[in-house]
Amino acid sequence: MFSSPRHWLHRQRYPLRYAQLDLLLRNQALSRDELLRKQRADFADIVAFAAAHVPYYAERLGRHPDVIPLLEKDAVRERLDDLLMRAADRSKVKIGHTGGSTGKPLAFWYDEAKHELMRAGMMRGFMMSGWRPGQKVLNFWGARQDVAAGGVFGSNWSDLIAAEKTIGATEFSEVKLHEWARFIQRYRPVLLYGYASAMSELARFIVAGKMEMPGSLIGVYSTAEVLTEAQRDLMQRAFGCKVFNQYGCREVPNIAWECRHGGMHVFADQVYLESVPIEGEDALIVTSLTNRLMPFIRYNLGDSGRLLDGECACGSPFPLMEMGLCRHNDLIRTRAGKSIHPGFFNHLLDGQVQVRQFQWVQRDMDRIALNLVAAEPLSAATQAALAEKISRKMEDAVTLEVNYLDEIPRTVSGKHRFVIGLG
Ligand SMILES: [Zn+2]
Repeated sequence: MFSSPRHWLHRQRYPLRYAQLDLLLRNQALSRDELLRKQRADFADIVAFAAAHVPYYAERLGRHPDVIPLLEKDAVRERLDDLLMRAADRSKVKIGHTGGSTGKPLAFWYDEAKHELMRAGMMRGFMMSGWRPGQKVLNFWGARQDVAAGGVFGSNWSDLIAAEKTIGATEFSEVKLHEWARFIQRYRPVLLYGYASAMSELARFIVAGKMEMPGSLIGVYSTAEVLTEAQRDLMQRAFGCKVFNQYGCREVPNIAWECRHGGMHVFADQVYLESVPIEGEDALIVTSLTNRLMPFIRYNLGDSGRLLDGECACGSPFPLMEMGLCRHNDLIRTRAGKSIHPGFFNHLLDGQVQVRQFQWVQRDMDRIALNLVAAEPLSAATQAALAEKISRKMEDAVTLEVNYLDEIPRTVSGKHRFVIGLG
């Protein structure tokens, strides 16, 4: 059954995407055991394939190591060419880019089939909210390369078929936020999808202006950034629907999606996810089970999180995980060799209602900068109390400098980071 003529047209236009979606949907009928058995087999297959057909892995996996080494981002930067499978048709493969949470750009290989599988995986993820193919999605996307030329509200034939529009959200002002809110009212999407920071700024604007959002909305998807509980609450209030978290990156998309019951489900037919203790953090390590063009095997994502046991009330066979608040390079280091979790800094400004955005930046072992976008400055007493709390936590006399800005600078891919460590 097709939900609309538009959906039918979309299927005709993207046959590969829908064929992939049908396969992915079928995997949801597997039991947990069947799914995990398939995952182990797929993992063994991709490792064997990489060792035989990809120069980088031929070198690293050649002698049947007991433990498969991690793939670090630096290796992806330095060995990009050796990570492409030998048989790849170099006239057909494309290079994608990601800003990376460190701001250091990372390139990766992909092709049409990879792109279509990514889109199919996203469709299955969206379906966990009750959305159906053909229903309208409005994207607020930060990465410039993903925003089609032709302007924010430019419409074209493929947009009409896709029931999807994308707004470039790398920077925004009050005027822009107003335009976006009005656009949501007119366009009446079923889902919103975008960076937590951009979506929560929009939510703040909507709540402050008491703007009514359309009843068509059933979900707001947050991606690419840490989603805090405060942001989630604000968005739920503004948009009047559930907020869903989504985890993945451009080079390994569709790692985990949240369901209507709040469970983060690992897409175990597409990835093998591990949580490994590294330097006191639960580091998330992922293997793409589908990418033979450029295998990512035990790839260190630079994020933290844990795998959870148990079943979810939604009945999905996909196992559960929980995101940490932290990316590795968001840790603040102390002279005594401690690492302080960004969660500590995220809560220091709780109750300071004049603060609209903040960012903590470690300049040195004993110097922290606080960048603020605020309606009025912090009082001298508040600033002194903050410096005192931080010094106590860092067991050192720490200087706090406060900078008032019109806007917090974003990373090259448009992400907002709350805490930036020395790296
Ligand atoms: Zn669930």
